[in-house]
Amino acid sequence: MYFSQLAVYIEKIETTSSRLEITRLLAEIFRRLNIKEIGKTVYLLQGRVVPLFEKTEFGMAEKMVVKATLLALNLERKSFETRNKQIGDLGKTVEEFKSQFPSLEKKDFSILEVYNALLRLATASGEGSQDLKINILADLIRRIDSLSSRYLIRIPLGVMRLGFSDMTVLDSLSWMLKQDKSLRPIIEKAYHVRPDLGFIAQITKQKGVKGLKTIVPEIYTPILMMRAERLSSGKEIIEKIGRCAVQSKYDGFRLQIHYRKSKISTRGKLTSGRKNQNEENVKLFSRSLEDVTYMYPDIVEAVKKEVKATEAIFEGEAIGFNPQTGEFLPFQETVQRKRKYNIAEKTKEIPLKLFAFELLYLNGINYLQTIYAKRREMLRKVIKISGDSAKNTILVAEEEVVPNEKKIELLFNDAISKGLEGIIAKKLDGIYQPGARGWNWIKFKRSYASKINDTIDCLVLGYDLGRGKRTSFGMGAFLVGVYDEKEDKFVTVAKIGTGLTDEEWKKLKVQSSKFKVQKQPSQYSVDKGMECDVWLMPKIVVEIKADEITRSPVHTAGRRLRPTKTRSALEVDIPGFALRFPRLQKFRDDKRSDDVTTLIEVEKMYAKQGS
Ligand code: ATP
Repeated sequence: MYFSQLAVYIEKIETTSSRLEITRLLAEIFRRLNIKEIGKTVYLLQGRVVPLFEKTEFGMAEKMVVKATLLALNLERKSFETRNKQIGDLGKTVEEFKSQFPSLEKKDFSILEVYNALLRLATASGEGSQDLKINILADLIRRIDSLSSRYLIRIPLGVMRLGFSDMTVLDSLSWMLKQDKSLRPIIEKAYHVRPDLGFIAQITKQKGVKGLKTIVPEIYTPILMMRAERLSSGKEIIEKIGRCAVQSKYDGFRLQIHYRKSKISTRGKLTSGRKNQNEENVKLFSRSLEDVTYMYPDIVEAVKKEVKATEAIFEGEAIGFNPQTGEFLPFQETVQRKRKYNIAEKTKEIPLKLFAFELLYLNGINYLQTIYAKRREMLRKVIKISGDSAKNTILVAEEEVVPNEKKIELLFNDAISKGLEGIIAKKLDGIYQPGARGWNWIKFKRSYASKINDTIDCLVLGYDLGRGKRTSFGMGAFLVGVYDEKEDKFVTVAKIGTGLTDEEWKKLKVQSSKFKVQKQPSQYSVDKGMECDVWLMPKIVVEIKADEITRSPVHTAGRRLRPTKTRSALEVDIPGFALRFPRLQKFRDDKRSDDVTTLIEVEKMYAKQGS
C-alpha cells in the first residue's frame, strides 16, 4: 500500500471519535495490507517503528523537524515560523507549505519505504547522526504528498496520538478476519504473551487463529504480568482456592527478568536487520513493560552470577534494604532507585534484594501452562544459592503451604507485624495467566478504617490551574479516571484538590509538563462540569485511597443512559461512581495507562462495600 493511501485513512480516523468507526477503518486498512506491511504499519499508526517496550527513540525535537522541512522545500525560516505560529500545529503547517509545490505531490511512495527510512532515522546514533536524521526526514518530506507529510512528521515528533488503544487494534484484527469482534479473546490472549502489536497483527494476517494459539514467550519480549484478586480473610481464601502457598507481599517493585547466556540477537523480530544493538544478556522489565535494565546494574550483575540457566524468564519483587542492619526499607525509600540519573550512587546507597516468585520460561520450555507447584520447584533449581544466602542478591520468596484459614490469619498477622503490606496466597495447581487478574493469586492486605480495603489505580486526565496558595505549583486540582474496557474510554471518578504534600504537587507538575495536549483526548469521557484547564496524554498513573465509593451524576464512570418505560424515546441517567475523600497514596510510575483499575473492578468494590 502507498503511504498516501494510509494517510487518507489516518485523516478519517483522526476526525471520528466513534470507537466502532475507528475499529472498522483499522480493519479495512489491515485487510488491504500484505503480510510484510501489516506489522510495520501498526507500529507507524502508533507513531513508532518498534514495539512499545523497545527503547528506540527518534531523538528529534521540533527544531530539527523544522530544519528538515526548510531544507526539503527550500523555504525561508521566518515566513515558515510565522505561519506555524498562526496554525499552531507543525504537521498542518508542513502540509500547507508542501501543497504549494504540486510538482512534488508524489503519491506512489510505499509504506515500507517510509518505514525503512524512519527506522534508519530512529537508529542513527553517534557523530553526525543529527545531520543524518535531518537529511533522511528532509528527503521523505520532499518525496511524499502534502497530506502524508502532515502525518509523517508527527511520527518523529512523537505526537501521532490517534486516540485508540492497543485493545481497539486487537478488535480490528478480529474484524479483519470475521467482520465482528468475536475473535478478540483469542487475539488478546496471544497479545498477553507477546505484547508486540506489530507481531500479533502479522501472525493474525499470516496464520489466522491457528497461528495465534501457538504463540509462546520470546526472550526479551516482556510477558504481560499476572495480577492478583483481592480477599479480606483467611476463610474466604481457603473457600476459594483451598490448600495454598502463602508468601509475604513485599512492598517494592515488580521486575520481569529475561536472561540468555549468549548475546542478544534480533532474530525473528519484525525489525530484524538491525545488528546486535545491545550487548547485554539480561533485560529487566517493569510492570508497565518498560525496559528498565539500565536502572538496576546490581540486579543485572546478580542475574549473571546467580541464575543457573541457558535461557530464563522469571519474576520477582525488588526491595531496598539497609546493608548494616539487613532490614528492608519502606516503599518510599526503595522507589528512589527508580531513576534515570545518578544510578551508580543510589545503587550503593540503597542496595536491592530481589525476591523471585515466578518462573515463566526456562531453557526453551514455556512454563505458563505448568501448575504453580511445579513452576516453583523449577524456580528453586534456577536460583543458585552458594553458602551464605544473605550474600545473594536474588532469593526465592519464602512460602508456606497452608491447609486452613487459621494458619493464613497467623501468617497475615506475622507479615503485618513485620511492617509488610500483607500476604499473597497462591493456588497450588494454578497456571500463570499473563495479563489477567485471576484467582490463582489472591492478595490479602491490611484492612483500613474505610469501607473499601483496596486502593484504586487511576489515570490523571488533566488538571485545573491553581488559585490561592497553590498558584506556585500552577495546579489547583487534578481529574482522575478509571478504564472502561467495554468502551475503550477513560471515565472519571474524582477531582482531587487537597491532601498532597508540596513535594507531590511538584512531582505532578513536572510529570504533567511532559504530557500536555491541546485538547481533550478522544479516549476521555468527561462531564462538562468536570472539564479541565489543561489536558494530559494517558500517561500518569496514581494510586488513590478513598473512604467510600458513592454515586454522583458529575462523574462518568458507570454512568449510563437507560430507556424508561414511561418515556421510551427519552433516556434517563444512572449516576456514575465517585470516590469519597480521595487522597493520593503514591505515584505508580511502574504502571501503564492500560494497567489502571477498570470500571468492572470499581463496580465490584462498590457492591462489596455494602456487605
Ligand atoms: P497493589 O496495588 O495491591 O500492590 P498492584 O495493583 O500493584 O497491587 P496486584 O496484582 O494487584 O498489583 O498485586 C500484586 C503485586 O504485589 C505484584 O504486582 C507484585 O508487585 C507485588 N508482590 C509483592 N510480593 C509478592 C509475591 N510474593 N508474589 C506476587 N506478587 C507480589
